[in-house]
Amino acid sequence: MTDCLFCKIVARELPADIVLEAGRALAFRDINPQAPTHVLVVPKAHYENAAALAAADDGLADDVLKTCHAVAVKEGIAESGYRIVFNTGPQAGQTVFHVHAHVLGGRALNWPPG
Ligand code: 5GP
Repeated sequence: MTDCLFCKIVARELPADIVLEAGRALAFRDINPQAPTHVLVVPKAHYENAAALAAADDGLADDVLKTCHAVAVKEGIAESGYRIVFNTGPQAGQTVFHVHAHVLGGRALNWPPG
């Protein structure tokens, strides 16, 4: 998609601090981190939100989830615990409409979220 921020990061048209690249998924640090580890994991292909990703039904959602765990291992938070969040839709706080998982960890996380 031509006017999508995360498509531009995937295409390396915009800079990002890339944590890892795994086949059809890319992980990069959130520009406004909310925890010591705050990494966004996106499918390289454009899907608007988690519902669209799930509907793709081609294993891509699996790839994204596995990449989230690979990020947690690489960041050293897999054992202590981490959170995976897909904000889906405006009321949930989604602001970038290229589906992304937030991988958060490195500190105790509150529940419920705000
Ligand atoms: P959402 O609110 O859609 O769930 O999450 C969007 C996330 O993208 C936010 O946490 C925000 O800080 C992050 N973000 C927005 N613009 C950029 C950017 O240009 N680069 C990076 N790395 N993250 C961004």
